[in-house]
Amino acid sequence: MRKRLAIIDREKCHPMECGNYLCAKLCPVNRAGADCIFPGDDPAKKARIDEFLCTGCGICPNRCPFGAIQIINLPDTLNKDPVHRYGQNMFELYSLPSPIFGQVTGIIGKNGIGKSTALKIMGNLLKPNLGKWQNPPEFKEVIAYFKGTETQKFLEKLHRNEITLSYKPQQVDLIPKQFSGTVKELLAKIDTKDQLHKIAEQLQLTHFLDNDISTISGGELQRTAIAAAVLKDANLFLFDEPTSYLDIKQRINVSLFIRSLAVPEKSIISIEHDLIILDYMTDLINIMYGQEGAFGVVSGVKSTREGINAFLDGFLKEENVRFRDRPLKFDKTQDARKNLPRSLISWDNLQKQLGKFHLQTERGTLYKNEIVGVLGENGIGKTSFIKILAGLTSPDAGSVDTQIKVAYKPQYLETGSDLIVSDFLQVAVDKYPHQLIKPLDIEKLFGQKLSELSGGQLQRVAIAHCLSQDAQLFLLDEPSAYLDVEQRLIISKVIKTVAQERDVTILVVDHDLLFMDYISDRLIVFSGTPAKNGLLRGPFPLEEGMNTFLSDIGITLRRDPASHRPRINNPGSVKDREQREENKWYYS
Ligand code: SF4
Ligand code: SF4
Repeated sequence: MRKRLAIIDREKCHPMECGNYLCAKLCPVNRAGADCIFPGDDPAKKARIDEFLCTGCGICPNRCPFGAIQIINLPDTLNKDPVHRYGQNMFELYSLPSPIFGQVTGIIGKNGIGKSTALKIMGNLLKPNLGKWQNPPEFKEVIAYFKGTETQKFLEKLHRNEITLSYKPQQVDLIPKQFSGTVKELLAKIDTKDQLHKIAEQLQLTHFLDNDISTISGGELQRTAIAAAVLKDANLFLFDEPTSYLDIKQRINVSLFIRSLAVPEKSIISIEHDLIILDYMTDLINIMYGQEGAFGVVSGVKSTREGINAFLDGFLKEENVRFRDRPLKFDKTQDARKNLPRSLISWDNLQKQLGKFHLQTERGTLYKNEIVGVLGENGIGKTSFIKILAGLTSPDAGSVDTQIKVAYKPQYLETGSDLIVSDFLQVAVDKYPHQLIKPLDIEKLFGQKLSELSGGQLQRVAIAHCLSQDAQLFLLDEPSAYLDVEQRLIISKVIKTVAQERDVTILVVDHDLLFMDYISDRLIVFSGTPAKNGLLRGPFPLEEGMNTFLSDIGITLRRDPASHRPRINNPGSVKDREQREENKWYYS
């Protein structure tokens, strides 16, 4: 049995530029006369490693100048063949999620550990090879591999062509690059069951059905993509991050909509990193763990509550597997800052008319060295307010007492640029290697073009770029989009460090309530009607702000007794009624 994996990133390996197979020259096994590292049989003869001969000495991954090699000791519990391996020294996937008919199954885990490989296999788009990429087995052999499990039953159906997949992709911002025309035209092409109007009502698409797909917002694109997936005549629906770009009200609406699809003849799988929403949307959970770009493992299916708690703990009790050294904790730590607040900027009764939209504020002040969360629906004036603070636009009435230097990370990231990451992040590389580059794990992306990055990679690069600028106030608009739960915790820590060490103020607009609860010192709350009027109140102390926001949108949150994470109460449940009566919308 193999004890380790050797992964070679073919894109990064350049044997003629590193000194003619530098890794092979340094490998002690090669030096002793064996062929542990050798040229591959592809036209560019990229390096290959014999995983049986490799002793795991760690020399080659450290010395390859392009960072092309990973050597990983496989956990003892992985004492079986993978379900699929793409090729020699390439990514491999162990086990598959278990789609269960009549239920919504959530998948939770890090990015880059095979979620899309698993989805492709379940959608019959990729034939699993049980690690035998040179000589792929018959499908019957694959079914036998899963004997006695729910996955066996599922694969039998797949083999009999009884599974039809419909897939909602992760990066909805790419849709306008692939389709042209109006939203209605796009959906009408797929609408074989004459359901378009019903689904459009449920997902609140009716007011923009006649708009061109290239002009709609990210939240509208997301709901259009969900509608497109649902209109397809299928019995397995896969939603890859169905709530990015949606505000919290829309997230709850989409969660209830996805739940409503789980009838006995249909199976629903959803990948979601907003833990409060994942908890609300799903019945069951599969946890995925492993090492980015190298291998991925899918846990057995668990109830949603147990699954999320096990994921946060980093330990699978049934399998007796620890997949993370430390639990993930979103607990608030006591604020160490004892100094009196120092004002950065104040405003009073601002008014601004923008076309048909009217923005109004109460009186407020931002302090230096604080993180203020901004909660509110999409289209309610958050960006307009920031432009006033930055002096980019003037209010029609009211006062702002200073204008300050502002840096801004927009919600939608530029995906088409050919700029190289290290050039784009020159200031961050020179001035903040320890504050930004290292914790955000960006070094390995240095040689890539912005246009080649995944959604999550681009998000980390955009955050680093914004936070490296010379400003007193930073605005991060939806920094959690496309990031997994672990990455969300990391960026929270980076944002906290930047605020403290550089004595700056950071406004964070986001709709992941767990993330906002963890990161915010105080909260600004927007209320009103999107596209018509917005009222800004605050900043409030955290608890008061959360209570104000949750009572506006009409949901109550309780704490899970084991993990202390917030959970949405079911409307009308005993807990929900009690908390409403006490006017305690936010758990205490
Ligand atoms: Fe050279 Fe690195 Fe490729 Fe080895 S893996 S041949 S050291 S570029
Ligand atoms: Fe050779 Fe393996 Fe050591 Fe790399 S890690 S140098 S392949 S023995």
